[in-house]
Amino acid sequence: MQMICLDLEGVLVPEIWIAFAQRTGIPEFSRTTRDEPDYDRLMRFRLDLLRRHGLKLADIQAVIGGMAPMAGAREFLDDLRARYQVIILSDTFYEFADPLMRQLGRPTLFCHRLVVDDAGFVADYRLRQPDQKRHAVNALKSLNYQVIAAGDSYNDTAMLGAADAGFFIHPPPGIASQFPQFPVHSSYGELLAAIDGAAERLRPAT
Ligand SMILES: [Mg+2]
Repeated sequence: MQMICLDLEGVLVPEIWIAFAQRTGIPEFSRTTRDEPDYDRLMRFRLDLLRRHGLKLADIQAVIGGMAPMAGAREFLDDLRARYQVIILSDTFYEFADPLMRQLGRPTLFCHRLVVDDAGFVADYRLRQPDQKRHAVNALKSLNYQVIAAGDSYNDTAMLGAADAGFFIHPPPGIASQFPQFPVHSSYGELLAAIDGAAERLRPAT
């Protein structure tokens, strides 16, 4: 039995915070872990910024609802889901991802949660589990699944390494060369062919 694990942002949908910065016209929201490597400090900065601009969860969801998956993402995912079990492993939050997951046909999503206060502001966030992508792959393997994974960035490399086969899809420049063990693909068609090839290779001979 085989399971496909895919990252979300940068693979199927745009980077949510960067798109959010563009749509709100508030450039500070595009600050990423490359600018602030301490994830907790980065999230505190973002939550404070949301509050200063009076943006409640409903406002954020309305902005995100105006975003769309990447061109061809829905068709790629539908094609994949017609033939494989697929789980999306993402470091986003259910409350943010929801408007985009609707447009992707609601595949299974493992991610994190936000804490919303009585006034509707995002007060805090809860990581469901640190290093959750790697843990999810290892858990699936313990259930006797072979895992094929694809992602685009640093936060996917533990997942790709734990999987039976791991691929990059359009990673930002510089990342792929640091992890040459993961083949790089630049289109959904290429990735699909690579997944099919890995699935064929991994399947035990009968
Ligand atoms: Mg990503």
